Amino acid sequence: MTLPDGVERRGFDGTERLATRGEPVYGEPTDGEWRAWNPHRSKLGAMLELGLDTGLAGGENVLYLGAAAGTTVSHVADFAGPTYAVEFAARPMRDLLDASESRPRLFPLLADARSPEEYAHVVEPVDVIVQDVATRGQATVATTNARFLREDGRLLMAVKARSEDVTRDPEAVFADALDELREAYEILDTERLTPYHDDHLGVVARPLSEP
Ligand code: SAM
Repeated sequence: MTLPDGVERRGFDGTERLATRGEPVYGEPTDGEWRAWNPHRSKLGAMLELGLDTGLAGGENVLYLGAAAGTTVSHVADFAGPTYAVEFAARPMRDLLDASESRPRLFPLLADARSPEEYAHVVEPVDVIVQDVATRGQATVATTNARFLREDGRLLMAVKARSEDVTRDPEAVFADALDELREAYEILDTERLTPYHDDHLGVVARPLSEP
């Protein structure tokens, strides 16, 4: 698995870690213009660390769903092209706006990812959707947003089992989520995100082509 351009493994205090170039956002260690990317705080970071074939090459247009305060999407905007960051909670949005100040390609959108019509007038077709909404109905959010993906695009998604049902076996939750995703996507790869995130499944998928 190759890392996207703009993401490198670099030494921080004697430990090799993923890193991107940009202003620090969450107190992460830096080395010159490089900032360490913490896979314990980022599902996409964990997917790269675990070697999932994300298909990311660098420079892609990205729609990021569930941006929170910008921990992960700031790294994405460090190596990607225009990056639309959807978050529906006002509180993390303030930090996300701070993270976007030094990142001209990062566009925070205060909107509900369950209602793509709220941002459809702003978001152009994208190469990649990154989704980490950690809320009930995660597969529905992904299928609803498939309309933004180019034909050869990729969905990079983290499914959090406990957000769907804390009482169910995570494997059963993941199976249901994948079944629903298959209505709009072909699943290319899946992997549990342990040891970085318990009861999370990383998913790589591409949109089904029109019949
Ligand atoms: N992806 C973030 C990161 O790595 O930096 C962490 C995301 S956190 C696990 C999930 C976020 O999704 C929360 O900030 C929550 O407010 C947001 N969220 C949940 N449902 C959403 C929705 N329907 N639309 C937009 N944001 C949503």
